[in-house]
Amino acid sequence: MKFLTNRPAADPSSVLYKRCTVDLKTGAMKFADVPCRNLEEVLGGFGRSFQLLAEREIRTAYCDENPLIVNTGLLTGSSAMTGLRTYFSGYSPIKESKKGLPAAMWSTGSGKFGAKFKWTGLDELIFENRSDQPVYALLREGAEGPVVELKPAGHLLGLSTHEKIMALQKQYPDAHFAAIGQAGEHWQNVYMGAVALSTENQLKSGEDKCRFAGRGGMGSLMGYKNLLALVAQSTDKTKAVSEAVKKVNINVVKGGGSARLQPISRGGGGGTWAAYDVMQPFHAVPLNNFRPQGNDLPEKLFRANVEKSFEIKSEACFRCGITCHNNVYEKHADGSRGEFIAKFDYEPLNLLGTNLGIHDAGQAARLIQLGDNYGMDSISLGVTVSYVLAYNERHPEKPLLNGATFGDYAKIRELVIQAGEGQLPEVGQGSKRLSESTGETSYAYHVKGLELPAYQPETNPGYAWAIAGGHMSMGSYGLLTREGKSDIDSWVEGITRTKLQIVGFDMIGLCKFFDIAKGICTQMVVDCLQSECGLEVTTEELAAAVRRAFLRGLALELRQGYSKEEYTIPAEVFEQPNPNIKLPNITSPEFLAELSKRVWEVFEPELEGLLPTPGDLTAKKPQ
Ligand code: SF4
Repeated sequence: MKFLTNRPAADPSSVLYKRCTVDLKTGAMKFADVPCRNLEEVLGGFGRSFQLLAEREIRTAYCDENPLIVNTGLLTGSSAMTGLRTYFSGYSPIKESKKGLPAAMWSTGSGKFGAKFKWTGLDELIFENRSDQPVYALLREGAEGPVVELKPAGHLLGLSTHEKIMALQKQYPDAHFAAIGQAGEHWQNVYMGAVALSTENQLKSGEDKCRFAGRGGMGSLMGYKNLLALVAQSTDKTKAVSEAVKKVNINVVKGGGSARLQPISRGGGGGTWAAYDVMQPFHAVPLNNFRPQGNDLPEKLFRANVEKSFEIKSEACFRCGITCHNNVYEKHADGSRGEFIAKFDYEPLNLLGTNLGIHDAGQAARLIQLGDNYGMDSISLGVTVSYVLAYNERHPEKPLLNGATFGDYAKIRELVIQAGEGQLPEVGQGSKRLSESTGETSYAYHVKGLELPAYQPETNPGYAWAIAGGHMSMGSYGLLTREGKSDIDSWVEGITRTKLQIVGFDMIGLCKFFDIAKGICTQMVVDCLQSECGLEVTTEELAAAVRRAFLRGLALELRQGYSKEEYTIPAEVFEQPNPNIKLPNITSPEFLAELSKRVWEVFEPELEGLLPTPGDLTAKKPQ
């Protein structure tokens, strides 16, 4: 980035970012220093990519005009803790309106790829068209600035995410990697392909400990483009941490925001896994396709119980003190550590474990590992498989696919493998399409075509307005369970003001765990921007930019054909309320109708003028 001002909100065009546009069809590259149009573009991530996507009229995700945009945020690669995010954006193969138009999506992950990408000198890469042959892109530092090359990738075809990364590491030992698995290669039948991002620990240990940009099928879009991997080769540009950033980082680790995510040995709850313990007292842990039974079955996957038979090790990304994920290893009879199996984060563990009726930690771990290796979004995969199981429970005489039922590990495993190999479009294309084909849509747990994360919709009607997946783009999932709010005013305020601010993290390059409660509009972020980039930004300016970016995403959904009726939660929730969930009912038809009316009253007037006009759209052609 080039900063010719220190006041980016007042003078955004004096901030320029380095963009490379790659035409995959011809191999042509175009580098440019692009002036920002507003603070959202300065911050980066989806704040920038969605403005570009809004300029395209895209009617199907798999078309030459749909770009794949890879970018970072202002604080990616900085000394600010968690500053490791990479963003992948495009029109999604899986998230679509009932009119059949694809929604704009972004997906993001940590690991060290984002920092290495930034350190090549690039801020954004746009992949146009598609390549005739499989390729990977090598990004590296050159004497005159960043260099991008396309290289043949035939030797990577058919390899898992982890195998691709390890194969590339042999050639580029000082680089980090982003790669798709076999699922993304089978983009025609798999719309939920994820992008794996390499971690330091993975490259050192050789174990498959990737992080993932999973949501929205950006790995499938990459596969469609015949782009199998990205290699970011640059020297590490870590610098001495300033006193201001040091203070912030200590606050991130010791302050309230991430405390519960810390390892148990440091007084925390043991990563995202701790959500099990928070929700089980209310019987709100998803079980058997989001139908908790009021029993103690979820407790079988509580950490304390898993630790009896497996070795668990808390793990962090490069230089991060939060240590939010856990690695699960076999435990030998003498108590020593055995083979690495998988990482345990809350969403994959629940959605490929308890929510499939699998209560054996080893089996859940193997399913997580399979999904990761094939490169599928664990949320979309788990929820689509749980739909199959729920259908089969209802139709034992005429089941779907292999007739798998809840808890039937062998058959569930078979479904995951067939989906990953591209042999099972019924699963690979997600729960919306599958449920529409069976005609039984009420218990397909997706909203607007994207499967729900592992928080019961009974606890979160805010899912309806999330613009890029339930818990990552609308922070209302704890409003009832953690904050105890069940009145309509709190929910309107949460959805339309405070909880939408969570998307700020998907612009600036930080993880949400940096400060999950307050978002990015804080003095901590102001101090980091000042110290790392020399920029003077106020919390009010940040809040306004995040709000505009969120609303632009909402406006873009509506332009892709979503009707207001699609802003709702799965019908089973209010048609057959689950009496086992011990929480106030905030998903009755009356509550949802009132919430919808009041939320749109706030949002609608603000959507005006956020998108290019139709005239602009036709004028813009892909480069
Ligand atoms: S918060 Fe978790 S995912 Fe984010 S950088 Fe730290 S360890 Fe990695």
